[in-house]
Amino acid sequence: MALFNKIASRLGNCVKCRGIASLSALPETHQMLQKTCRDFAEGELKPIAAKTDREHLYPKDQIKKMGELGLMAISVPESLGGTGLDYLAYAIAMEEISRGCASAGVIMSVNNSLYLGPVEKWGNEEQKEKFIRPFTTGDRVGCFALSEPGNGSDAGAASTTARTVGNDYILNGTKSWITNGYESEAVVVFATTDKSLKHKGISAFLLPKPIKGLDLGKKEDKLGIRGSSTCSLIFEDCQVPKESMLGAPGSGFKIAMMTLDSGRIGIASQALGIAQAALEVAAEYASKRLAFGKPILKLQTIQNKLAEMALQLESARLLTWRAAWLKDNKMNYTKEAAMAKLAASEAATALSHQCIQILGGMGYVSDMPAERFYRDARITEIYEGTSEIQKLVICGNLIKELAL
Ligand SMILES: Cc1cc2nc3c(=O)[nH]c(=O)nc-3n(C[C@H](O)[C@H](O)[C@H](O)COP(=O)(O)OP(=O)(O)OC[C@H]3O[C@@H](n4cnc5c(N)ncnc54)[C@H](O)[C@@H]3O)c2cc1C
Repeated sequence: MALFNKIASRLGNCVKCRGIASLSALPETHQMLQKTCRDFAEGELKPIAAKTDREHLYPKDQIKKMGELGLMAISVPESLGGTGLDYLAYAIAMEEISRGCASAGVIMSVNNSLYLGPVEKWGNEEQKEKFIRPFTTGDRVGCFALSEPGNGSDAGAASTTARTVGNDYILNGTKSWITNGYESEAVVVFATTDKSLKHKGISAFLLPKPIKGLDLGKKEDKLGIRGSSTCSLIFEDCQVPKESMLGAPGSGFKIAMMTLDSGRIGIASQALGIAQAALEVAAEYASKRLAFGKPILKLQTIQNKLAEMALQLESARLLTWRAAWLKDNKMNYTKEAAMAKLAASEAATALSHQCIQILGGMGYVSDMPAERFYRDARITEIYEGTSEIQKLVICGNLIKELAL
């Protein structure tokens, strides 16, 4: 627990707590982690969040510090350089970091769950040693390349190919929308070795970056999470040794789907952080803004809004923590992770919408963070499976459970 001790030793004075009821129900380790992350978000992320967004700046120094705190590899075992905590801890940390800066949240989420997650689960000893330890410290980040220009939701239709030539594979094709695409120094990428096998022909590969035969597309100009980079990865005769395959041949689709199950807990937590920030800004503004001679917080209409916001947020948080708890206890959590992601992302959008409404004109300008929350929230309903896809996952599992 060396890194966790580092987290614990960073504990400063207890910052003003919110949600005491849920906080007191958490194990002591998780409470300490939560306070550490909240402290960090208050001191290091909130102050830079607006500039990060406005200038599309990758928060390099902050990511490095998050690595020092053990936040870039929370669930990776200590033996591999990680923090060795469970997924509930990851969910809690992700929420707190995203409450300070949603861009830092997604960078952390991709490194933890989409990159390190599959490498740790499916990598062989050599891959783990080479591709995990250097990515635990915040110095380097990884990325996950599944989506393509022609298919996002329909990931089984991958058209990037991996052709065998002697002892090598040659990769050709384009992956789109890749988070951490610019900064990442390794990629988990999915390609088909046999298109006729459809999703069963897809394999996962683990490659260092930069690498000959891999070019980066333009940096996407996004609505939100503008401190994180998103770009295409263009593979053109990218020749890699056979040992670059991650997991068994043909298991790529399964690896991608299982990785996304875990990743959805991270994105749900990112959404919770944005929603929590929106609730806090709205409530504080309402307590100070006077209309008709009194703070608008005294108006029942505003109170109803805040009550509904708190209810939606807390319901989504319970779903998210439950999904994490199921994963930690080695139970099936596919449906619950989809529910958590759906509920939390919709909560983030709804709460940031209401936050703008409660701030009135001040909600619409960048002097206040409400409009940024609104822009940052929107992506949580799209990446790692759109809301429509979450409903398909939920209902698919429901049908199985009911044996219909
Ligand atoms: C900022 C950003 C970062 C991203 N980061 C990554 C990353 O790091 N790695 C990565 O691999 N990908 C990443 N993505 C891609 C993301 O996961 C996809 O955009 C998402 O899965 C949707 O795919 P699509 O854009 O192709 O939309 P489509 O699949 O074309 O969907 C379009 C619409 O049709 C709906 N739809 C599609 N199929 C169905 C269906 N069967 N039933 C009902 N409705 C359906 C969708 O819900 C959506 O509303 C990122 C995207 C963005 C914008």
